[in-house]
Amino acid sequence: METSKRTKVKELLDSTAFGSTVTVKGWVRTFRNNQFIAINDGSTINNIQAVVDFENTDETLLKRLTTGAAISVTGELIESLGKGQKVEIKVKELEILGDSDAEKFPLQPKKHSLEFLREIAHLRFRTNTFNAVFKVRHALAFAIHQFFNERGFVYMHTPIITASDAEGAGEMFRVTTLDFDNPPRTEDGKVDFKQDFFGKSTNLTVSGQLEGELAAMAFGDIYTFGPTFRAENSNTTRHLAEFWMIEPEMAFYDLNDNMQLAEDLLKYVIKHAMTTCADEIEFLKNRLLEEEKQKPQDERSELDLVTKLNFCLENNFERLTYTEAIEILKNSTPNKKKKFKYLIESWGADLQSEHERYLVEKHFKKPVILTDYPKDIKAFYMRQNDDGKTVRAMDILFPGIGEIVGGSQREERLELLEKRMQEMEISAEELYWYLDTRRFGTAPHAGFGLGFERLVLFVTGMTNIRDVIAFPRAPKTAEF
Ligand code: ATP
Ligand code: MN
Repeated sequence: METSKRTKVKELLDSTAFGSTVTVKGWVRTFRNNQFIAINDGSTINNIQAVVDFENTDETLLKRLTTGAAISVTGELIESLGKGQKVEIKVKELEILGDSDAEKFPLQPKKHSLEFLREIAHLRFRTNTFNAVFKVRHALAFAIHQFFNERGFVYMHTPIITASDAEGAGEMFRVTTLDFDNPPRTEDGKVDFKQDFFGKSTNLTVSGQLEGELAAMAFGDIYTFGPTFRAENSNTTRHLAEFWMIEPEMAFYDLNDNMQLAEDLLKYVIKHAMTTCADEIEFLKNRLLEEEKQKPQDERSELDLVTKLNFCLENNFERLTYTEAIEILKNSTPNKKKKFKYLIESWGADLQSEHERYLVEKHFKKPVILTDYPKDIKAFYMRQNDDGKTVRAMDILFPGIGEIVGGSQREERLELLEKRMQEMEISAEELYWYLDTRRFGTAPHAGFGLGFERLVLFVTGMTNIRDVIAFPRAPKTAEF
């Protein structure tokens, strides 16, 4: 009999080929009554049940059927009489591929806290929750590429090591091969980066946008999807030091086109995940309901996960300007009752996540796109409005998340861009290559950055961003 071939559990659970002989390889989740093995092979969050004829099986072999052990089972696929499953396997051959010491294996067939699982992130993939989360993550990544591919966008790989630190999106991690204890110094005592590996000071990228713009001015429509790094010392449930970002950049788009693309993208990928990961999302919905039972009534979500996702698909995102949002916030109950940590007193204030979430969750009760922010709280490259105060920026705010997308129409007018750079003390010399796009065939264009983990957070209903990336990097956290 062939044993190196195996059928995946996902396929078998949908099969009606009763009577056929099948081989399953996977890991033992539970072994009950000396008879029923629940096997999971990762292909689905659901297990397949294999039934052992314990009377005719070596007892020492049965003893090795512990949670976490890798096994191979060959037997007859039969219709199951037990509730909760349609098929099971009547075991003919059983082989232990890898033992798992029940005393030492940290994952037991019971509920573990997410905090505990984060400490054993190398094993947490083997839980239903993380199986579901990473299936959804995969589906979303796949859908993103599919969405752009269908629309003729070119996938660009922008550099991870960069010498430009002008973007100002966040604090950067330095990349160097200089001797840390005894770096070469210039005459005035500064570290001499001319002697560093790249002959200049370099960092890990905070965004691929500037390079993306160069490509958009040739290909028309491009996107990046890669890791970005920010040394932000903010220990929040929505920030990572290493996260993945999708950054499309489109020639001849204005801000409205840009917003429409972002809304279409979000709806497309959420829909794809809901279709291809229906079981996983159903599981995550129930997980969230369970978790929220621990919370006081007024802190629970009004909508369950599936309803929330559908709601997001069925409604147009609310679009309004920053100025309109400030008015709403100024007059809001939490502002008047001084419930906000940062009170909104005047135009120009940067919005904190508490304000974003108020607008989305309490006021509009749906995703919101804010546009035309004050230029002083936004990056130098955003297109300036005629009012002299605001720029063509847009942020998309999602329930439970706050900002999920940040984008803008870019300043394509060379003089205005140079003037803004001067005001913000950004070196035009260093960024000559960026300015060249405005010198040679400049054109209106726009783009945005979508934080991938924030998207996964939204679709999975998880609450901590560290639970939607395999091995989170955050302040004092770089395990595995
Ligand atoms: P925030 O105000 O939430 O820190 P930001 O304004 O710094 O976000 P951008 O620079 O516009 O964000 O980055 C684009 C997108 O990348 C954000 O909308 C968000 O989805 C995501 N993002 C930004 N910083 C992080 C981070 N530290 N961890 C995970 N995702 C992030
Ligand atoms: Mn930030």
